[in-house]
Amino acid sequence: MPDRKPFVGGNWKMNTNRTTGSDLTRAVTDGLMNIDGVEAAVFPPFPYQLTVRAILRDRGSSVKLGAQDLYFQNDGAFTGEVSINMLKDCGTQMVLCGHSERRHVLGEKDELVNKKLRCALENGLTGILCVGETLEERIAGHQDIVTARQVRTGLADIPVPMAERLVIAYEPVWAIGTGKTATPQDAQEAHTQIRALLRRMYNPDVANRTRIIYGGSLKPDIAPDIFSQADVDGGLVGGASLNGADFVALCKAAAASGKSKP
Ligand code: PEP
Repeated sequence: MPDRKPFVGGNWKMNTNRTTGSDLTRAVTDGLMNIDGVEAAVFPPFPYQLTVRAILRDRGSSVKLGAQDLYFQNDGAFTGEVSINMLKDCGTQMVLCGHSERRHVLGEKDELVNKKLRCALENGLTGILCVGETLEERIAGHQDIVTARQVRTGLADIPVPMAERLVIAYEPVWAIGTGKTATPQDAQEAHTQIRALLRRMYNPDVANRTRIIYGGSLKPDIAPDIFSQADVDGGLVGGASLNGADFVALCKAAAASGKSKP
């Protein structure tokens, strides 16, 4: 059995408000109260980090707090940005880097993603590097090249000790928020390729320990088949994470898959 605890993250994107985000946090913490075998995290918008943090702490929950982005400078004249020091001050424990919406809606390039990821990992947070091809890239048969480039550049100058806090999310862009999912076999193939790349870039130990999670229209009914794949270590969830019961069901499916992996 692989020595990787499944991970499920709920990316709330630019959704919720103080009330609905608090209700959602309570539903998630209640639903996961006695569930072992999965590391779960929620990624609320920046303004609600402290609110969600307070609920998680008050309930003694093991659910982690994540942010959807950060800027790599510690402070200064960067209007609108949020620094690692601010996140640490809020008790944020992990951060998404290079989510497809940041790459494709807001124009983030691999080099910027790398700076953000390095900043998160250097400062002791878990960094979740998001990678994945667009539909055009897939149709052209370039998915492996694109994903490999995003992983290689995203991990530039990140040494082995820092890579220990790394999670990679493979999220084909054409599957995010579209209701389309990769087949379990397609997901497994992409994850195998990423793990092989980690083996070449680092060593077998890092490759075996790094969790590679799948994202793209995950729902409770299809998740077990995807999570059961040998190299799929959980998921990054957008739409379904806004429903407490669905998110809890996805976390439970991931926990169950960890026990049944070959
Ligand atoms: C995501 O935002 O990372 C995501 C996978 O979204 P969705 O589950 O809605 O496709």
